[in-house]
Formats: sequence, structure tokens, C-alpha cells
Amino acid sequence: MRETTSDRSSPDEQPGHVSGEVPSGEIASGEVASKEEAEVIVVGAGPAGSSAAFHLAKAGVDVLLLEKSHFPREKVCGDGLTPRAVYQLIRMGIDINSPGWMRSRGMRWVAGDHRVHIDWPDLGRYPDFGLSRSRHDFDDILARNAVAAGARLRSGVKVTHPVTDRAGRIIGVTGVAGVTGASAVAGEQEPAVYRAPIVIAADGASARLALAMGLERDKSRQIATAARRYYHSAERSQEEYLELWADLRFPGSDRYLPGYGWIFPMGDGRVNVGLGALPHRRYGKADLRAALAQWLARTPHAWGLRDENADGPVRSAALPLGFNRHPLYTRGLILVGDSGGMISPWNGEGIGQAMEAGEVAAESAALALALPQGPRRERALHHYPVEMNRRWGRYYRLGNAAADLVFSRSGFQPVLNRYVMGSPFLLKTLARLLANLTDKPSQDMIDHVLNTIVRLVPSPRTVRR
Ligand SMILES: Cc1cc2nc3c(=O)[nH]c(=O)nc-3n(C[C@H](O)[C@H](O)[C@H](O)COP(=O)(O)OP(=O)(O)OC[C@H]3O[C@@H](n4cnc5c(N)ncnc54)[C@H](O)[C@@H]3O)c2cc1C
Repeated sequence: MRETTSDRSSPDEQPGHVSGEVPSGEIASGEVASKEEAEVIVVGAGPAGSSAAFHLAKAGVDVLLLEKSHFPREKVCGDGLTPRAVYQLIRMGIDINSPGWMRSRGMRWVAGDHRVHIDWPDLGRYPDFGLSRSRHDFDDILARNAVAAGARLRSGVKVTHPVTDRAGRIIGVTGVAGVTGASAVAGEQEPAVYRAPIVIAADGASARLALAMGLERDKSRQIATAARRYYHSAERSQEEYLELWADLRFPGSDRYLPGYGWIFPMGDGRVNVGLGALPHRRYGKADLRAALAQWLARTPHAWGLRDENADGPVRSAALPLGFNRHPLYTRGLILVGDSGGMISPWNGEGIGQAMEAGEVAAESAALALALPQGPRRERALHHYPVEMNRRWGRYYRLGNAAADLVFSRSGFQPVLNRYVMGSPFLLKTLARLLANLTDKPSQDMIDHVLNTIVRLVPSPRTVRR
């Protein structure tokens, strides 16, 4: 790993005044900024960024991970991990047997009077259990794991703009260091410039860096929203199943909500309870807080899902779904996780996707850096969207169609009808479709059915710019 140090620019070496470069960053002329260099800069240390940084560092790449917050910090999430996500943790050597990880055997689906348990499948490719862990701890663990592998983490650095060369290629970012945390006071904040030939945007749903590079989201794709709250619930906190409710309604109406509710056991005396929904095709967005209150009033009092047991307020955030931003690579910038709209349109899951994409991005960047600057390096970087499309292109295309045609009109309730809820085969098939859990090549009938269906979907074109 190449050694680099943080230093101060001399006045004649101002960021933005290096010959041949026209930075779009906004550090005023004459201002002295701190400056760091790396082979790859990763913006954002959520699951996407920390995973990318970990895999890059493991590949011997000098990587700088910039994060505006200080860990541990909250992130609005359901905290639920399916076996695919667990697999990514195992690949990074995270000790999932240490205290604090809550294992799940499968899912419990509740729809009307029906209640079914579906164990996670026993596949050769993925573990047969899921996990939950609060993002307060989870993101901290992943960031520390990246640092242990050799990544340089700079917390409290808010990236403000890309720095681009005359060709419009990103060659670094500007930021403000010391922006958050208890110790941050006016005067301690300083502008900074960070330089690298490759930048990974992992800054989450706001996708500010992608936007600053002109990568708008696809407006024809819907954005779901989700809200969650923690409750103290001795009764539910040690449950073995992730519970999902399909029969939620628009507040004050009998129309089904185009989404679902969850109760995820945290194992620490609390549960994470929330709901996520697409905007309804006809009726638009639901008031999620009111829908949550209406739903929880239906749950047994003994579960404790009442205001007096709440641990913190209801918080909500957007879910960018189904590859809603393209291209995933352009002009030195790679989009990973929510910044690339990678949440699954099938179930709203995005942590495992962010970690998996982070690994693929790291592979492409490490390979590119082994090649000379120019067309060969560029080809290696353009492989990233091709590989992401190969992995999820067809599956997401089908999921986007299902979201448009079914979920955004009537949610999951009609899918989980009496016939499906009474058929173990259909339930298992649906569960594995929603969580993208199949073996390839197919090992059983369900693999065969699902892999065939997805293969029949025309592959989306990889957008290149
Ligand atoms: C209510 C809710 C429930 C959800 N439940 C689940 C669930 O149960 N399971 C699941 O798999 N997914 C769930 N998701 C989706 C999941 O939270 C996201 O898909 C996942 O967090 C994406 O990871 P990421 O690393 O791409 O982005 P993020 O987790 O958003 O991380 C982005 C990071 O970038 C940092 N950052 C942002 N801007 C800057 C900047 N300018 N400079 C420096 N740093 C910056 C942020 O501080 C943050 O640390 C849920 C989402 C919501 C809203």
C-alpha cells in the first residue's frame, strides 16, 4: 500500500489552480485548504462505501474514505439483513458470532387472517440465516473493518463538489473538514481538497456527487419512502423470524397500502418497526406516520408497540429503487448503493445490495489501477456497470415492472391471497423471488422456475456515457 500523508497546500499550490485542471469545486482563491491524495476516494461510509473501501484496501489500493458524520451515528433503516447480505458480511470477515447480532430463521408473513412462517432456504451459495443489527452499530463495524484492512477514514468531512479536469473527468473532490460531531465549532472547520484518479460515490439516496456530475435520476421510476421507529418490546425482541405485514391500509380508508410493514427483532429488548410504500398509482403518497399509527393500534397490547414504549421518534427516508440512476460509471466516477438507485424493487432491501456493489466496484477500480491511464483503464472501469447489469439487470427490470403493475396499485395483499398462503411451494417460491435467493446453476425446482423466469426477461441495455 502506498503511503500518503495529509498536508497543507502552499499558497502557490492552491487546490483548483493546478495547471491543466478546471475544478468545479468552490474553494476560494487564496484560501489555504488541507489536501490529501489517494488512488481511490470513496465518498460516504455507509454499507456501500465501507465495503468498497474494504475490498480496495484488501487489494492493496490506497483508498481514502470520506464521511460527513462521526461514528457511531444513526441511519434510518429497518436493520434487517437477508442471507445475501449476511454472505457479504462473511466475505468481509465480519465476526457475526460476536454479541449484538440477532439471527433470524426466516420470515413470518401476515396477511389478513393468514400467518405463515417461511424459513430461509438452504442453498449452497448463501447462509441459511438472516441477521438484524442496528445501523448505529452496523455502519461503525463496517467502517472500522475497512480501516483495519488499510483504508484511511476521514470522519466529519462533508464532500461539497467534484473537482474535474478540462475534459469533465472527476479527479477529486472538495469538502469541509470538521463539520459534524460534538467537537465541531465554527472556526475549526476548514475547506479541503482530496485528489484521486477514481472516485466512488457512496453518499446515499441524496446522490449529491452524482447530481453534481450531471447524473440525474430516471424520473419515470418511482421512489418509495419508508418510516421506522424503535420500541422496547420484551415480548418481540427475541423472535426468530422477521415479521412482514402485507395488509396495511391507507390511513382512514380501506384501500391497501402499496407496500408492507415490518417488525424486526433487535435482540436487545427492542424491535425495529416500520413500513415502506410506493406512491399509489391512483391515490399518490400515503401519510406513513398515520399509516404506522393505525397499523400498530391493531397489534396486541402485550407486544408493547405503543408511544410510551417508543425509543426515539418516527423517522423516514427515501428508497431509490431498481437502478434509477445511469450510467453507473462515467468520467472517473462510480456510483454504488443508494447513490446508484440500487435498492431492490422487489422488497425494498438495500444494505446487501450496497455491500455487493461495493465489492464489484472495488474489483473494477483495482483492475483499472493496474492498467495504464487511457483506454485500457477506461475499459476496466466501464466493466462495472456491465457486471452490475449482468447480476441484477433482468431481475430488477422484472421487479420494476412488478412494482409498476402490481405493488404500486395494490401492494402485496392480493399476491398473498388465500391460494398462495395455503401453498408451501408457492410461498417458498415467492419468498425466494422477493429476496433474490437462488442457486446458479439451479439445484431444485424453485431455482429452476425462478432462474428461467428471470432469464426470459430481455436484458436492459447498459447505459454508457
Ligand atoms: C426506513 C428505511 C428502512 C430500510 N430498511 C432496510 C432493511 O431493513 N434492510 C435493508 O437491506 N435495507 C433497508 N433500507 C435501505 C437501506 O437503508 C439503504 O439501501 C442502505 O443504507 C444504502 O447504503 P449506502 O451505503 O448506499 O447509503 P447510506 O447508508 O445512506 O450511506 C451513505 C453515507 O454517506 C454519507 N454522506 C452523505 N453525503 C455525504 C457527503 N456530502 N460527504 C461525506 N459523506 C456523505 C452519509 O453520512 C452516510 O454515512 C431501508 C431504508 C429506509 C429509509
